[in-house]
Amino acid sequence: MTRVRRPLRALFLGAPGAGKGTQVSRLLRDFKGIPAISSGDLLRDNIQKGTKVGKEAATIIKDGGLVPDSTMVSLIGTELQNRGWLNSESSWLLDGFPRTVSQAPALDSILNKSGAALNLVVELKVPEEVILDRIENRWVHAKSGRIYNLTFNPPKVPGKDDITGEPLTKRPDDNPEVFKQRLDKYREMTLPLLDYYGEKGLLHSFQGETSDIIYPQIKKFVGTNFAE
Ligand code: ATP
Ligand code: MG
Repeated sequence: MTRVRRPLRALFLGAPGAGKGTQVSRLLRDFKGIPAISSGDLLRDNIQKGTKVGKEAATIIKDGGLVPDSTMVSLIGTELQNRGWLNSESSWLLDGFPRTVSQAPALDSILNKSGAALNLVVELKVPEEVILDRIENRWVHAKSGRIYNLTFNPPKVPGKDDITGEPLTKRPDDNPEVFKQRLDKYREMTLPLLDYYGEKGLLHSFQGETSDIIYPQIKKFVGTNFAE
């Protein structure tokens, strides 16, 4: 377990199924004191609790669309505030937000006001055929957001979460039709963010066919640039 020497405030970009959640959870395992928010997990949590945001998001997510920017900005903004992350000392990771060219400047304005500017944007580059295959094999522990892959990262006991032993489920939007829609949305709405962060000098891309190939590169990068 390594501690960070300077605050790490990073976000993760990559196609659906590129492994953002997996990379984030490995960083949480290896680096001390870095919490994370996954916008998808947060939305699923809201759906499960039946909140106003959850009701709005449910059908959109089921169809592979994007939740409106205004809803997302206020949801994440509130979460950052409530968790006490809006200061220059905090380290944290964001998975799945921002995802459109209008969410990005909205996040910047929230962060810059509090001196908590981003200092890293990680892009995960994974070939599309690999991603498609992965989605079909993906199972999740809904409550914790832990992700399993029947081929690469199977649970110790089939169908059960490693930590709690509770049953694993399939995400309703992890089917080929909805997935295609999510991939199209990614290309159209999220890819332009690469230029946005590239111009700010924050973008670092990591490439590979599996999370096991990509993770050591990210770990090394974070270790070299942020850890003690
Ligand atoms: P993966 O988890 O496989 O990387 P993903 O990035 O498509 O795939 P999530 O991040 O879990 O999946 O998001 C699930 C759904 O929640 C999205 O398809 C979208 O409908 C909605 N969503 C999540 N984050 C945002 C966001 N920042 N803006 C708009 N909609 C969002
Ligand atoms: Mg995810």
